[in-house]
Amino acid sequence: MTDVRTTKQADSDKKENGTPTVTRLEPTTELLAEIESRSQELETATPQEILSWASERFGPYFAMATAFGPEGMTMIHMLSEIAPETPIFNLETGYQFQETLDLRDEVNKRYGIEVQLITPDLTVEQYEAKHGGPLYEKDPNQCCFDRKIKLLQDVSRRLHAWTSAIRRDQSSHRAQAPIVGWDKKFGLVKVSPLANSTKQDVWEMITKYDIPYNPLHDKGYSSVGCWPCTRAVLFGEDERAGRWSGTAKTECGLHSIDD
Ligand code: SF4
Repeated sequence: MTDVRTTKQADSDKKENGTPTVTRLEPTTELLAEIESRSQELETATPQEILSWASERFGPYFAMATAFGPEGMTMIHMLSEIAPETPIFNLETGYQFQETLDLRDEVNKRYGIEVQLITPDLTVEQYEAKHGGPLYEKDPNQCCFDRKIKLLQDVSRRLHAWTSAIRRDQSSHRAQAPIVGWDKKFGLVKVSPLANSTKQDVWEMITKYDIPYNPLHDKGYSSVGCWPCTRAVLFGEDERAGRWSGTAKTECGLHSIDD
């Protein structure tokens, strides 16, 4: 698996079974107090100011996860100007749309940034053979765990903080996201620079700076995940209604606050 960091090595690097790791951040009282107070201060900051603070505070062990959604594309644009050395990675489940994967090339062309694809140990073919068919049909939670969560767990051993492009107004669940918080699932500080942004803010930025975006958005896919679990939304539907449509599942688990 690719090492999700810059080439800059910190003194705390260690080798365990040949795998580079870093000393994990512990959620000490001091750290939790720091991130809570910083989170409150940053409530009125711009996404660029939040990213700038995070890259200075946690670099080189600060990275961004992206599924190349419109929000993520604006953050890639910002990082290219603020902290282009920040590693950016995509959890490549093997089930992403080709249009999504093509955006990785667009990002490289436009910004000179190579988004790292993090892949599961088993290919889709091996995984489906092991489970007697596609697990997304029978047990999507397990499928998301195996093909997304586990990958971020692995990446998290080499990081202190990660950022993603969630917005509070995307769902009642995401409404609880702090700007900076302790992500106990992954043992990382999690930074959400777009927590206070709206869908309109994001699309205004995309238009203003001609930021590349997934062409599926022009075909009614307001939120794009893996192709088996994504459909276009109908007029008036919630923007995430096309994800795991027809099931109670609303999140893959990466952004669960209370797990
Ligand atoms: S979104 Fe669907 S296909 Fe993708 S990992 Fe989750 S269950 Fe599997």
